[in-house]
Amino acid sequence: MKQTAPKIGFISLGCPKALVDSELILTELKTNGYEIVPTYQDADMVVVNTCGFIDAAKKESLDTIGEALNNNGKVIVTGCMGATESDITDVHPSVLDVSGPHAYEHVLGAVKQHLPYEKEYNPHIDLVPPQGIKLTPRHYAYLKISEGCNHRCSFCIIPSMRGDLVSRPANEVVAEAQGLVASGVKELLVISQDTSAYGVDTKYRTTFHNGQPVKTKMLDLCEALSQVGDDQSPWVRLHYVYPYPHVDNIIPMMSEGKILPYLDIPFQHGAPKILKAMKRPGSINNTLSRIKKWRETCSDLTIRSTFIVGFPGETDDDFKQLLDFIDQAQLDRVGAFTYSPVEGAPANNLANPVADEVKEERLAEFMALQAEISTAKLARKVGSTIDVIIDEVDNDGAIGRSKADAPEIDGLVYLNEETNHSVGDIVQVKVHASDEHDLWANKA
Ligand code: SF4
Repeated sequence: MKQTAPKIGFISLGCPKALVDSELILTELKTNGYEIVPTYQDADMVVVNTCGFIDAAKKESLDTIGEALNNNGKVIVTGCMGATESDITDVHPSVLDVSGPHAYEHVLGAVKQHLPYEKEYNPHIDLVPPQGIKLTPRHYAYLKISEGCNHRCSFCIIPSMRGDLVSRPANEVVAEAQGLVASGVKELLVISQDTSAYGVDTKYRTTFHNGQPVKTKMLDLCEALSQVGDDQSPWVRLHYVYPYPHVDNIIPMMSEGKILPYLDIPFQHGAPKILKAMKRPGSINNTLSRIKKWRETCSDLTIRSTFIVGFPGETDDDFKQLLDFIDQAQLDRVGAFTYSPVEGAPANNLANPVADEVKEERLAEFMALQAEISTAKLARKVGSTIDVIIDEVDNDGAIGRSKADAPEIDGLVYLNEETNHSVGDIVQVKVHASDEHDLWANKA
């Protein structure tokens, strides 16, 4: 039986730095599938982020822990006062776990230990790849801006499971981003089911962050996110963008370097007939000319997309139109899947299903064409100087990603024998080799 998400109550005491810790822990908990609730009664467990700066703050922390124990019983303590464990356990020996400040992973581990929950990964509804859920490193973080979707794509069950679009207020998103960046996050991965529809449900409501108006709207949010961070702006990467006309307005922000020149647009198909059967938002007819214009405005734009091959009713001609589309669009990064029915999706009832072996043949042909495109595109990067964010360092060297590569789904940049980098560093490198997916480079 499917386990429902455990509910966590969270109390954040203390200074803005403690609040930053709280933001990061909350983000980690939510990314790992835990639900955050506002009352002791609704919570399965309570996390108290304490302050130990002055005696009054210590007293408030101890009183709050006592209140949480009385009203809930399962309490995890973190934050400044937890730096000396006995300060807490001498008064409240029944707390489940104590950690000091900035102990994000420890808190997550303690929650998982006392309230185990393995979020079941469902490729049909989850936005974050499973690897990302388990181990979101500190230097990048997923930033969810809305839940649900107003579309009704025929192969998709998200609207029936998650309901219509509900956008988070822009000030809340920006505050979370600010907290993440303050705690060392260098790259924000903006996710939702339909990022370009952000705010439409709120009629683009104006919110206020630090006294400044921020509209609950994609463009305004991007502008605000680009300004988060005191010394260095984070990399802001947009996922699940649909090619609505207003997306055109985002491209200049990419060429100005405010957000990453990267668009993840799930086109799904290239034949108008199939897109109609899929009930996809946006029109494919003028997509190619828009892509061309986007690239004229922002020459280093990376477009990533996903496609479904073998959708019911897809004829040889439709498939050829799909191949023509990817050939002309020259997309940088492409993932593709053969169509498979998802329980509860309307597309299951469509006529003329494609035979499995035809689907597989088409997928192979599709991927072979894309491999050629990708190999040629990456080869053109050899000799160029690019920025790379370091994801891993070991005795053999460092592995990072360029602005064109989202974590887990795109390519890597290998910096062989460069062991002197730290995870999260952003370094300039010169590319000297490439293959179908990845690049090899050395510090410029
Ligand atoms: S846009 Fe379509 S595929 Fe995406 S979540 Fe909405 S209904 Fe599903």
